[in-house]
Amino acid sequence: MKLVLASNNRGKLAELQAMLAPLGVQLIPQAELGVGEAEEPFHTFVENALAKARHASAHTGLPALADDAGLCVAAFGGLPGVQTAHYATQFGYEKSDANNVRALLEQMAGIADRRAAMVSTLVAVRSPQDPEPLIAVGRVSGEIAREPRGAGGFGFDPVMFIPAFGKTFAELPTEVKNAHSHRGRSAQQMLALMREHWFAGTPKP
Ligand code: IMP
Repeated sequence: MKLVLASNNRGKLAELQAMLAPLGVQLIPQAELGVGEAEEPFHTFVENALAKARHASAHTGLPALADDAGLCVAAFGGLPGVQTAHYATQFGYEKSDANNVRALLEQMAGIADRRAAMVSTLVAVRSPQDPEPLIAVGRVSGEIAREPRGAGGFGFDPVMFIPAFGKTFAELPTEVKNAHSHRGRSAQQMLALMREHWFAGTPKP
């Protein structure tokens, strides 16, 4: 089955393609099919991912898969959430991972409650009007460290402290991080959902 991926991020494409290979799914990035980026006007990951999946499916006639991800900080009522990638720009910094980390540490100075989660939401539709989208949410809980530690990963990894490991994500080997990441968890769930809802009982070729 061909599935259009509503993202042009090569890293995500490779990771998701590997995960879905056992189902015989071939992922095609939407840009290869001439599809532009969808608007993401909503406050929740699931609404934005659903909008992106419907958009990709409408423009290609194919089933579609989309993701939305970000950081949810307990002391900020779950924000920055869908605004995570642009977090630093709210405080006058240019958009970059390093500035995101800097802005977050500044905003959390003096805050004792450091709890936060990285969240990845995947949504899949069979058609643009699919009334029964598949929704998978992967979440990893941790604490925002007081200062950056470690050189691995990207984004908020240097301040995402995982109590079970006693380390930040940036201090863990890539394969350990990936096995326990929000993205790995949502992809595993999506694989199970597709197996159950889309492929169960499919006649063998
Ligand atoms: P995206 O939707 O995967 O592009 O991620 C949205 C935001 O979350 C970006 O600012 C990323 O840097 C950040 N982010 C996503 N995944 C991770 C991760 O695994 N570790 C740290 N930051 C992440």
